[in-house]
Amino acid sequence: MDIITVMDDALSNKIAAGEVVERPASIVKELVENAIDAGSTRIEIALEEAGLTSIRVTDNGKGMSRKDAVLAFERHATSKIANEHDLFRIRTLGFRGEALASIASVAKIQLWTSDGEIEGTEVHLEGGQVVKHDHAALRKGTDIIVSQLFFNTPARLKYMKTIQTELGHIIDLVNRLALSHPHIAFQLMHENHTILQTAGNGDQRRVLAEIYSVDVARKMIPFKGDNADYTIHGYITLPEMTRASKNYMTLVVNGRWVKSYAVNQSILDGMHTYLPIGRYPIAVINVEADPYLTDVNVHPSKQQIRVSKEGELLSLIKASIHEAIRQYIIIPDAIKKEPAIKRPSEQTTIWNMQPKQTVQEQPIKESVQSSYSIQDETETPQSITESEYAPPVRENLETVQETKVEQTAPVSSTEIAPDEEKTDKRFPSLVPVGQVHGTYIIAQNEDGFYMIDQHAAQERIKYEFFRDKVGEVDHEERQLLLMPLIFHYSGSDKAAIEEHMEMLHAVGIFLEEFGPSSYTVREYPSWFPTGEETAIIEDIIEQVLRNKHINIGKLREESAIMMSCKKSIKANHYLTIADMERLLSDLAKAENPYTCPHGRPVLIHFSTYEIEKMFKRVM
Ligand code: ADP
Ligand code: MG
Repeated sequence: MDIITVMDDALSNKIAAGEVVERPASIVKELVENAIDAGSTRIEIALEEAGLTSIRVTDNGKGMSRKDAVLAFERHATSKIANEHDLFRIRTLGFRGEALASIASVAKIQLWTSDGEIEGTEVHLEGGQVVKHDHAALRKGTDIIVSQLFFNTPARLKYMKTIQTELGHIIDLVNRLALSHPHIAFQLMHENHTILQTAGNGDQRRVLAEIYSVDVARKMIPFKGDNADYTIHGYITLPEMTRASKNYMTLVVNGRWVKSYAVNQSILDGMHTYLPIGRYPIAVINVEADPYLTDVNVHPSKQQIRVSKEGELLSLIKASIHEAIRQYIIIPDAIKKEPAIKRPSEQTTIWNMQPKQTVQEQPIKESVQSSYSIQDETETPQSITESEYAPPVRENLETVQETKVEQTAPVSSTEIAPDEEKTDKRFPSLVPVGQVHGTYIIAQNEDGFYMIDQHAAQERIKYEFFRDKVGEVDHEERQLLLMPLIFHYSGSDKAAIEEHMEMLHAVGIFLEEFGPSSYTVREYPSWFPTGEETAIIEDIIEQVLRNKHINIGKLREESAIMMSCKKSIKANHYLTIADMERLLSDLAKAENPYTCPHGRPVLIHFSTYEIEKMFKRVM
């Protein structure tokens, strides 16, 4: 018995719609992408009930002819690719020719369009069938209303979450589309309220300001870089302005917003040792490449792509961001200069000095502890939020950036090498005056005074020392042991260790086979922190066991961080003025003296002006 039949169009469109039209946001995405592909410079999106009742997209693009206006709703109807060859050189956002057919199968459609030639066209569709095809006014562009979404697919309608959730998805989407196309003026309206409006003047920083607030946009720094195949540029927030979620990183490849776990990871790698644990930057990163290097035909929603030479692209991103951050990093200020803009979802705390009692004549030494307290002190790096500290030169940030942009030569994708000239010119010269709680050094200069976390400072100095040592292990610098150390591992761990043997060797771990489940170590680099050698070796081996895909760069970095923690002076440790001077002068020589390797601040500035203001010496 023959049981196979070919589906009719209405059915196959509905099936395709299952993939393309998941929720109102997916319809908005397809309609807006069509408007972008049509060369529009203004796109308006108006929603009722988060799009479930109606979605209207109006553009001023090239419009459609009378015939095309109907053909556009046929399955596989597209003006964007004609042959197989085109599939590898896609410059438009759409190319599958199935969005309008799919949308028409699950909603009612009204369309007005004109290519500006003779007259416009009006088309209505219900259940995928044309129910009206008429003349309309001659206004170049396209206006489409999609209403009663999922009216004939009740199961999908039931699946929709609350209006707020669906609206959230649409806002997130339109934000990213606006960011990807700063030359287009976008307006997003929900029930007559404007949610987003962009200028369309090509300035991506301005779009960032419209989406994330002016305050955020001002704290973002530009970065750029290129290699033989890719050019990248974008903006990223300084480590002082972070979020608890990765969702604020936007990747745009040839004008298409795409999601990539690997790229997010390389952004974070680029900020490594600057970023508090569990916090993420706000960033937009634009990648330009020959379309030939990208494959966009990976998923119906076109949200993922494949790129050739991915490894090179990822190191380019990491290196460019790292370099940009390194150049801009500055000392947090103890006093917030302007009120923080609070976002409802964002928990913000402000570091602030609150006079509690009258200060003695000699403010330094013992009296400081009792006279002042830092409010909302943060114990863990996780809770550091944007308003906790502001860069002291923030007012000038814009000008600083402008001059910096010219100076920042594009970074190549080669591994980040430490600078020849390590001392940052902007690091202030500091004179130590004393120590608080055996933990913080107080130092001063003409700009005010500084509190330095001595543990964080030393961690930074040691980290950079060990990073250089581990970066290229000098085989002359070895310590031979009279009694070899012995390490035991299970069979599976040994297999993983064997695989990484060369890498371990490169960081100074020289393991020798010693029976089926053990290794011996007869020598190790003489600069391994004394007394901690066994723990260091175990910890480094632990790194490769925990992360089997670790690369040599990461292993070096993690090992250096681990060793720096082991050897640093802890809190409650008395230092002489000479100790403090040495620490501050070593710190000044560090490549990045401003944060510890875990991203926490090393020093905080109390400006003379702010102090005078607190004592009402100035108003
Ligand atoms: P695709 O975008 O993959 O080509 P769609 O189903 O989204 O497929 O659209 C089909 C065709 O309809 C497009 O190729 C384009 O020619 C035309 N079209 C759709 N929307 C617009 C618009 N806003 N302006 C001009 N042409 C449009
Ligand atoms: Mg399309």
